Amino acid sequence: MLITNLENQYKNFEKKVSSYLSSEHFSVVQKAYNYALKAHGTQTRLTGDMFITHPLGTSNNLADLHLDYQTLAAGLLHDVIEDCDVTYEDLVDEFGEDIAKLVLGVTKLTEVENVSEIRWEENIQTHSLLEAQTLRKMLMTVAEDVRVVLIKLSDRLHNMETVDPLPKSRKIKFAKETMEIYAPLAHRLGMWDFKWRLEDLSFRILDPNMYKKVAKLINTKRKNRDNYIKKAAKVLADKLKKENINAEVKGRSKHLFSTYRKILAYEKENKTIDEIYDLFAIRVVVQDVKDCYIALGSIHNLWSPLGGQFDDYIARPKDNMYRSIHTTVNGDGNFPIEIQIRTSEMDQYAEYGIAAHWKYKEGSNDDTTFDNKMIWLRQLLDWQREVPGDQEFVDSFKTDIFNDQVYVFTPKGEIKELPMGSTPLDFAYRVHTDIGHSSIGARVNDKLVPLNTVLKNGDKVLIVTSSTEIEPSLDWLNPNLSYLVTSSAKEKIRAWFRKSQYEENSQRGELIINENLVKLGIDLQLSEIVKLTDYQSEETLLNDLGNGSLLINELIKSLDINDFNTEQSIKLPIIDSDSSEKKVFGVGDLSTRLARCCLPKQGNEIIGYITRNRGVTIHEHDCINISNEKEIDRFISVSWGLNETLYSVKIYVEALDRVGLLKDITGLLSDERVNITGSMTKNEDDNSYITLSIFIKSISQLHSIINKLENINSVLNVKRIN
Ligand code: MN
Repeated sequence: MLITNLENQYKNFEKKVSSYLSSEHFSVVQKAYNYALKAHGTQTRLTGDMFITHPLGTSNNLADLHLDYQTLAAGLLHDVIEDCDVTYEDLVDEFGEDIAKLVLGVTKLTEVENVSEIRWEENIQTHSLLEAQTLRKMLMTVAEDVRVVLIKLSDRLHNMETVDPLPKSRKIKFAKETMEIYAPLAHRLGMWDFKWRLEDLSFRILDPNMYKKVAKLINTKRKNRDNYIKKAAKVLADKLKKENINAEVKGRSKHLFSTYRKILAYEKENKTIDEIYDLFAIRVVVQDVKDCYIALGSIHNLWSPLGGQFDDYIARPKDNMYRSIHTTVNGDGNFPIEIQIRTSEMDQYAEYGIAAHWKYKEGSNDDTTFDNKMIWLRQLLDWQREVPGDQEFVDSFKTDIFNDQVYVFTPKGEIKELPMGSTPLDFAYRVHTDIGHSSIGARVNDKLVPLNTVLKNGDKVLIVTSSTEIEPSLDWLNPNLSYLVTSSAKEKIRAWFRKSQYEENSQRGELIINENLVKLGIDLQLSEIVKLTDYQSEETLLNDLGNGSLLINELIKSLDINDFNTEQSIKLPIIDSDSSEKKVFGVGDLSTRLARCCLPKQGNEIIGYITRNRGVTIHEHDCINISNEKEIDRFISVSWGLNETLYSVKIYVEALDRVGLLKDITGLLSDERVNITGSMTKNEDDNSYITLSIFIKSISQLHSIINKLENINSVLNVKRIN
């Protein structure tokens, strides 16, 4: 970079910083810049720029957040210990302990990162282990001094902004790491602005085509939406003015990656981009909390709220201190608009999260309630102490901490935060390990529900425990039954079984294996099964199965030999198309079924019929039921595929008879995209005996279906028969 460019970059930085720092503090920042400039000397970056542009860029990002002068100085100095002949003591002498400590903290984090990098390239297997070390270190650092992590995030942001000249493999590694660690961390710290920038920069590298597509899409839609939002904002501003509420009403555009995620979610619901009206939303910033609620009233008065689209994070702030009211309303012309209402103080927090706390304030910088607010941070540290292995730690980090959260209440009204999709059993383990182990049932909002019910925001949860038995069930670990989402709960159960007796475990293992082989109609000796796995002996296999380190569904997977001994098997139909590759039906998102009217036989000529909402049905080409169809567009050409084979099996369901039983069973099979080709029901006394013929892909799939069927209310037993 030319010297004049550097001068410009520095001048802009100075202008920004001097606008909010006192001259005394400003001079410390200037001094840090000159010190770093001298220390880095003629070093250059891989980009060809002078090295000093990097710490300057880092500190500039921090100045956008209006952070205190210590953080800015440390941002400028963050690489001098690592890259130059400067020691921690030198920095203490020159800048005092506070700034020197921040620099040392960043240096230590970078060291962990660099070790990871070397080994990551040596051996891809150790990646998650080193990721765990980086993560643990980061979390500890957040607790020690959040500012170190703010500098690190800013450092990463600048690196991502200038990543282009690097070789492709390094770029991808950087982008992945950013997506997996840094963006979620920014999310958790409430630093949305950083988060979005980090995500979009990584998205561009990881999926350049999709990035371009989304960018184009947003641009073409932007004009119409901008006009629409502008009009709506004007109507709203006028209304609020009439009610004497001093408010700033502004349109708000979404970011590329978050839009992309939204598009994916909409695709799942079969909606198109044209139906995404909250791509652009409105934010209302008012003076105080009282006005937030008055504004909410006026908004709902103006436009009717959409059911289920309301969140009050003022009454119940998120653990990262985010406060705001969210509502989605039916705007003029029946378009949904997402509206956020908050005070300007909340707005600051919402943009800059934890950084807003460190925002430069003349005089003191301490806030005694701050620590109390950081409940999640303490939770985080508790978890990281609880979770033993590195792999478990990385898993729990990703599922328990970074996913979207659901907030539920204990009977005493205490709030518990759990990852989205959590169950009463997750809740029980979060309250106390022993409560988890002795759970036998749950009441949610005073109604008795199964332990694997999915919890919703605001649910009041009470766990029913056994007074005599403290013993978890291995079923709780079976992913087919969806009892648990949190990794920490799963780990607690595994730990419990690891502690129990060898003898007991082996017996339990044997029981599990026998029970499941019978259900699946598999006729194999234990010795034959061991050969299909990585296990050396029957004993260790049984023991691992009994103590939960080997799950039954994992074992079944290794038995997936696709030898079903069935007389009937078919290949999956595929769609014929000249233009692109052939698409296989019945896998992924495409749903297909064999028409029950003609039940096509393999080898016969077939045709696909696109139904309104059930995917594609495959008929024999001369099936009478479709011969009258007028809409020619609904037919597509299909043929018998070559790759995936479906097998016909019979399963036998024993249940207590009740209204809706058959509907629940067929509904489940349809959700699992399984074709039923025949069924027979026999009722005797109060019992139902149902025989179903279905097509399945693998033993694993059959196992999962049997597990799920058995989980249906009043079903007693399910097994495969011949
Ligand atoms: Mn750096």
